[in-house]
Amino acid sequence: MAGEPQADCLFCKIVAGEVPATVVRESETTLAFRDINPQAPTHVLVIPKAHYPDAASLAAAAPGLAADVLREAGEVAAQEKITAEEDVPSKGYRIVFNTGSGAGQTVWHAHAHVLGGRGLNWPPG
Ligand code: 5GP
Repeated sequence: MAGEPQADCLFCKIVAGEVPATVVRESETTLAFRDINPQAPTHVLVIPKAHYPDAASLAAAAPGLAADVLREAGEVAAQEKITAEEDVPSKGYRIVFNTGSGAGQTVWHAHAHVLGGRGLNWPPG
């Protein structure tokens, strides 16, 4: 059922404490932890504790929870001191939801990547 933990889901196992992670923030509904393969000095994943396979299904089924993830992503950026500063190229950050394997999604539990701490190119690869 939508939102229920999935036995074969890596991020559900992190929520349950069955797989270790470096947690940087936690709310009642979300968890934020460092990516195991960081692509920038700050690379944190923010997930809903409930299981939804991707950002689109999360937003459709539980828009309030999707908003929680976005708010927490902003809080992570503030905590990591990567929020935008005028004329400082390494400040500012990116929130990314890879959605679908063609876009690079590899874990089928909705998650926001929060990336920053260096200048970020556009368009992404
Ligand atoms: P996706 O490719 O689905 O957008 O993002 C999944 C992310 O999860 C990747 O950036 C990958 O490095 C990260 N990841 C995969 N396995 C683990 C793990 O066991 N622990 C942590 N902290 N991150 C993981």
